[in-house]
Amino acid sequence: EVRVRIAPSPTGNFHVGTARNALYNYIFAKQNKGKFILRIDDTDMKRNTIESETGIYEGMKWLGLDWDEGPNIGGDFGPYRQSERLEIYYKYIEKLINDGHAYYCYCTEEELEEARREQVARKEAPKYSGKCRNISKEEIQIKDKMGVKPVVRFKVPDKVIKFNDGVRGELNWDGKLIGDFVILKSDGVPTYNFATAIDDWLMKISHVLRSQEHIPNTYLQVLILEALGAEIPQYVHLPLLLNEDRSKISKRDGALFIGEYKEMGYLKEAVLNFIALLGWNPGDSEEFLSIEDMINKFSFERINKSNVVFDFKKLDWFNGNYIRKKTIEEMVELIIPFLLQTDYFELNESTKEKLFMIMKVEQERIKRLDEVKESFKPFFVEPVVYDISLIRDSLKNTSIDEMIYLLETAIKILENTDNWTAQELENLMRQLCEEIQVKTKILFMLLRIAETGSKISPPLFDTFEIIGKESTINRLNNCKK
Ligand code: ATP
Ligand code: MG
Repeated sequence: EVRVRIAPSPTGNFHVGTARNALYNYIFAKQNKGKFILRIDDTDMKRNTIESETGIYEGMKWLGLDWDEGPNIGGDFGPYRQSERLEIYYKYIEKLINDGHAYYCYCTEEELEEARREQVARKEAPKYSGKCRNISKEEIQIKDKMGVKPVVRFKVPDKVIKFNDGVRGELNWDGKLIGDFVILKSDGVPTYNFATAIDDWLMKISHVLRSQEHIPNTYLQVLILEALGAEIPQYVHLPLLLNEDRSKISKRDGALFIGEYKEMGYLKEAVLNFIALLGWNPGDSEEFLSIEDMINKFSFERINKSNVVFDFKKLDWFNGNYIRKKTIEEMVELIIPFLLQTDYFELNESTKEKLFMIMKVEQERIKRLDEVKESFKPFFVEPVVYDISLIRDSLKNTSIDEMIYLLETAIKILENTDNWTAQELENLMRQLCEEIQVKTKILFMLLRIAETGSKISPPLFDTFEIIGKESTINRLNNCKK
C-alpha cells in the first residue's frame, strides 16, 4: 500500500516549499489510492511554536490537502507528533546499543571542539574520532557518578552507503567520510535523523517525497534502518524552491506563510496549479491543471533535478486566469472579505448589488483579490482632492481654461439626460467631442480623472453608469473647482 507523509517542523512559517511537497505527496497518495499522513516533526524543542503548528493545519486546509492520519485526527500509527513518541525512540536506541550499533559518548563540547580544531589544522574534514566506541563499563560508571550526561552515537560502518532515489537513481556515499553521528542528545531528545527514520519505518511510509537538501540526511537514515533490519522506503528527492536571488526559500529567513497568499488575494486553485509546476511538468503543453489532472498525470520521471526560482509574476498570471474562470457571484463573495478591511465599505443589500455591477466590468482586470481595496474605492467614495500635477501631466497641451470649459459643457449635457446608461453616455460625449473639435482622448481622460481621481479605471462609461448620475455630476463639479 502506498503511504506517504508530509512532516514539517513547527519552527516557523509553513511556506510554499513545504506546500509544494505536501501537494506532491497528496496527489501521489490519491493516484495510488494510498494514505497521506501528516506528522509533526517537533524534535527541535527550542524552536517549536504553537502558532507554526496551527499554521500548518490552517495552510493545508486552505489548500484542500486533507490528510488521512495525523495529530488530532489520529490513525493506526500514532501518535503523530514526535514529541509524544519519545518512549518509542528510547526502545530502539536501546536496541541499537545492545546490538552494538550505537554507544554512549561522554566527550564534552570542549573536547570535541579541540579535536575539530586539530583536524582542521591537519586539513582533514572534521568528523568524530570514534573515541567513545570503546569506552569501558567502569568509565561509564565514573562519568555517570560525576553527573556527565552522555549522548548516544550511531556506529557508522566502514562501507559505501547506497540508496535508490526516485529521481536520480542510485546514490552512494562512502561511510568512511561520515563520523559516528548523534542519535540521542544529552537532554534525552532524539535527533531529527533518528526520529524521522524510526517514524517513517513504524508508520509504514512507502515513499518519502521531500526536497533534496535532505539527501545527506537520507544516508544516515538508511544506516539506521539497515541496522534495525527495517525496510527502506523509496526516497524521492525534489528540487528546491528558490527566492529570486537564488537563495533557498526558508523559514529561517522569513519565508511567507502560505496563508499570506490567501490574504494577498491569491486563489487556492491558482496557488496549487502554480506550485504543482515548480519541479514537475505533465509532459504536455497544458498549463492549467486541476487536482484531478495532477492525480492523473503525476509521475516521478517528470520531476526535474534542478532547483526552481519562485516567480511571482507567473503566479499573478495564473491567478488572473483563475479569477476569470469564476462566476460573478463567486467573485463577489470572494472579494467581500477584502472590502470589509477598508474603511469605506459596508456590506448591505444595496452595496452588494453594486458589487455585482462593478464586478461585471472589473473581473477582466483583477490579478489579485486584494487589489479591489484600491480599485473599487472610486465606486464608493468621491475623490476628496484632485492631484493637480496628475491632471497637468495627463493633459499636457490643454490649458486650465479649456479644461474648465470642457467640464462645464459635459456637465450640462449629462444633467439633461435621463437615459443614464453607459452606451448613451458614451454617445453623448463622443458627439460633444465632434461638435467642439476636441479629441476624445482628451475629454475622456479628463472625465476619468474627474470621476475617479485616477488615470486608470475600468471602462469609463460603465463607471459612470455604476456610480450614477448624481454622484458623477457632483464629482465633475468638484473637479472643476
Ligand atoms: P528550516 O530552515 O528550519 O530547515 P525549512 O524552511 O527548510 O525550515 P522544513 O520544516 O525543514 O522547512 O521542511 C519541511 C518540508 O519542506 C520538507 O519536505 C523540506 O524538504 C521542504 N522544503 C523546505 N524548504 C524548501 C524549499 N525551499 N523548496 C522546496 N521544499 C522545501
Ligand atoms: Mg529544512
